Amino acid sequence: DLLVVGSANADLVIGVERRPAAGETVLGSDLVVHPGGKGANQAVAAARLGARTALLARVGDDAHGRLLLDSQREAGVDTVGVLVGGAPTGVALITVDPSGDNSIVVSPGANGRLTPEDVRAAGSLFQASRVVSAQLEVPLESVAEAVRHLADGGRFVLNPSPPQALPAEVLAACDPLIVNEHEARVIAGTELGERPEDWAEALLALGPRSVVITLGARGALVAERAGARVRVPSVPVAAVDTTGAGDAFTAALAWRLGLGESLAQAAGYAARVGAAAVTRPGAQESFPTAEEVAAL
Ligand code: ADP
Repeated sequence: DLLVVGSANADLVIGVERRPAAGETVLGSDLVVHPGGKGANQAVAAARLGARTALLARVGDDAHGRLLLDSQREAGVDTVGVLVGGAPTGVALITVDPSGDNSIVVSPGANGRLTPEDVRAAGSLFQASRVVSAQLEVPLESVAEAVRHLADGGRFVLNPSPPQALPAEVLAACDPLIVNEHEARVIAGTELGERPEDWAEALLALGPRSVVITLGARGALVAERAGARVRVPSVPVAAVDTTGAGDAFTAALAWRLGLGESLAQAAGYAARVGAAAVTRPGAQESFPTAEEVAAL
């Protein structure tokens, strides 16, 4: 089974002709509300593929929290670990201009109240999970606590987004650390040059057992501390909206690792899932079923 530890947000999206300056008001399109947040996205992506998936997260006792619980349940995610209350549900306020550029304000809300104590109390979920997948939209000390509760032989997958410096204990558990170019540059923290192979070496030097670098339409690079460096090709598709591609990729990879695939095999499957996700708009709405991946 897969356990996702992470965030759940309501994404509130308004189209605007232009953004307001300070003190100004502009009128926008009708509001559209989507379930989002990297943790919630990953859990839905995995469950839609057929993975037995649980989510450990915190939402508010409010309408947005109920939207998130409903969307998780509809996808088949076990929500026994979704805690309710303590603060309003996390929200992303998103304006989209005619060129398609986003401006986003995030209120972490309840995500910021997912405490190490909450993680400790979810011990049985960890014991039932071969793979635990986390991101950084919840407190880093709670992610660190998750590492301490892995089942015997349990595997830890981390997408450090939004990127920040990681404690050695967390880095050492990552198998793999999954980053895009931006995250690689922040985490490795040095002048990295242009070659993903060099980024992978710099990241491996920080202590993870393995690293996967996602490269958008260029696919991904897999590097294991004690193994080969493997380029994973992307699947050529007509990209419509890349929102959530990284979340779908990470969820698929974590699931396939739990099925016993090698890291390179799992990344190859994940690249197909990521490609399928960019062919449809939105995040959770765009995630494919296993049948759709097979048909790609
Ligand atoms: P993030 O959203 O975190 O920046 P990427 O954009 O690298 O992540 O996307 C994750 C994965 O999704 C890529 O490694 C790739 O396999 C797949 N993917 C993303 N964009 C495309 C695309 N335009 N065509 C095909 N596959 C894509």
